[in-house]
Amino acid sequence: MVVAPAGTPTSREVTRTSIVPVTLSGANYRRAHDAHHLAAGLWDQAVDWVHAEWRAKHNPGKYDIQSFITSIPREKRPLHAHSTETIAHDLHEAIKTSRSNRKNGMLVRTPWRKKNYRPLSFSKGYGWRLRPDGKLNLSLGRGRPGIVLELPKVIDPVTGELISHDLWGEIQLCWDIDNRQHSLHIPYKTRRQVSAGETITTIDEGIINPMTLATWADNKTIDITIINGREARAIKRQRNKAVSGLQRKLSKCKNGSYKHRRLVAAKKRFKGKARLQLRDFDHQVSRKATDHVIAHTTGRLVVGDVRGIERKTKQRRRMGRHGRQQLSQWSRGVQEKYLAEKTGLELEHLNESNSSKTCPACGARNCPSGREYRCKNPNCGFTCHRDAIGAINVFQKAIHGDYVPIGPDVVICVTNLEAVKRWSVHQSEAHHMVQCRKARALSSAQNRASAEATWQSKPKLANSSTSSSKPDPLVAVP
Ligand SMILES: [Zn+2]
Repeated sequence: MVVAPAGTPTSREVTRTSIVPVTLSGANYRRAHDAHHLAAGLWDQAVDWVHAEWRAKHNPGKYDIQSFITSIPREKRPLHAHSTETIAHDLHEAIKTSRSNRKNGMLVRTPWRKKNYRPLSFSKGYGWRLRPDGKLNLSLGRGRPGIVLELPKVIDPVTGELISHDLWGEIQLCWDIDNRQHSLHIPYKTRRQVSAGETITTIDEGIINPMTLATWADNKTIDITIINGREARAIKRQRNKAVSGLQRKLSKCKNGSYKHRRLVAAKKRFKGKARLQLRDFDHQVSRKATDHVIAHTTGRLVVGDVRGIERKTKQRRRMGRHGRQQLSQWSRGVQEKYLAEKTGLELEHLNESNSSKTCPACGARNCPSGREYRCKNPNCGFTCHRDAIGAINVFQKAIHGDYVPIGPDVVICVTNLEAVKRWSVHQSEAHHMVQCRKARALSSAQNRASAEATWQSKPKLANSSTSSSKPDPLVAVP
């Protein structure tokens, strides 16, 4: 890692992926649909072949898998050569990942499941190119018609600039199963401000407040940023309720019936929407944490280690049903990944046992109840936000190796941030009242208009009272 002089955040070239929803119609949709299924079929064949090789005591490498797939006759794999190669490389990567995971003690299998649908990859210049009429062509191999789309607009969310197609890399065409929509995943290179310096920032993670960051601003001040995550709790709760309600209804109807299909579609819709919202939430949390990290020119990020807490919650039985659900739906790992990507720093993990119990002023251990920490030591009486305590203690441990008490005259500056802004009860009530007033005004205006119209059209109606058609109240009769 390049360490710049303290006080100057640097920028670094990074790859971002933009996800652009696209709508395919007619022949393009059918071509994409068939190609997705075919790619899945090739994957299945390659998986079967690899398993047969293992049974014969061979260990095929990346290029062995590739040469097996390319040995399938060309007319049986109507895809672009690069797209088929990607399947082989992805399979090799998946095998490698499963092996390293097993080495780390996880119970995983090498790829074995039959696939129905696989994303398609199109390399730059060969797989995808711009047609003379300005449209995007995704090639399905020489001599076959490709998938033609309008050129999508890719906007960098940080700078707000339009990214030219010259900067795009390998495009993937994917199918979002929950939102039932195609999307293009377009990677591009951009510069991003990253943190560099000597300061240490520590992070305490939690379910209610996803991240609490602590940094010594100077010798006498600790800056704390608490990022509140009530929005995520609301999204998850709403989703869990909706899904469990649908699941209850699903259990009562016949598999494959019309109602069953409708309910499954509704479930997917709920889950898809919640997934997009939670993805945004995780990005917002890591963005706010990154702002703190860059503002303090941090060079080292230390996180209280809670990895693996979400696993095996059922066997451990330390909490109630709802607590366990909250714990296993906690997206801590994703937020850490985003934070590492955004700051350009590597996260160090530190054992954080008792960090939220130990008083940072006197070192006594208390069991906090509620969100406020109060030291029960009669000579101390220290009070602070509960999550801030965790972050300060992790900080002391990162520097001194233990929970060394901070001095008595240290000022703790707490900043509360909301990960996603949501209206307060007061705001939403006010909005609701305005909407009601508008609706009332509109309906009374409509009533007045229709009353006038009927009053004007009354003589006409009297003449042609036999006509069965309903008179349109808003059309004035000449
Ligand atoms: Zn104390």
